[in-house]
Amino acid sequence: MRISVEEENCKGCLACELACSFHHTKEFSLEDASMRIFFDSEGGLNIAILPTCDLCLDERLPLCIEFCPARAIKLSKTNPYFGDKEKAV
Ligand code: SF4
Ligand code: SF4
Repeated sequence: MRISVEEENCKGCLACELACSFHHTKEFSLEDASMRIFFDSEGGLNIAILPTCDLCLDERLPLCIEFCPARAIKLSKTNPYFGDKEKAV
């Protein structure tokens, strides 16, 4: 089971990154998040899930899913981003 993000529904609010960093560190620090939402030079939205994602196994729900206001994040068995180091930033 993996995390996937529906780019067409993502608003770029970064709530998932903040929630993820809190999961890892109990603080809000974007650099500690396993998820990266960023815009390319043409303004396109890009999303990467880093290998440090542990699926929030010690949480009731993955925090990125719980706190995404757009419901753009889902659990998936076929996430093309998961573990893709070329997409990691
Ligand atoms: S499942 Fe947890 S560790 Fe993985 S990206 Fe979401 S918040 Fe971060
Ligand atoms: S919380 Fe949801 S809408 Fe906000 S940046 Fe993350 S995936 Fe996109």
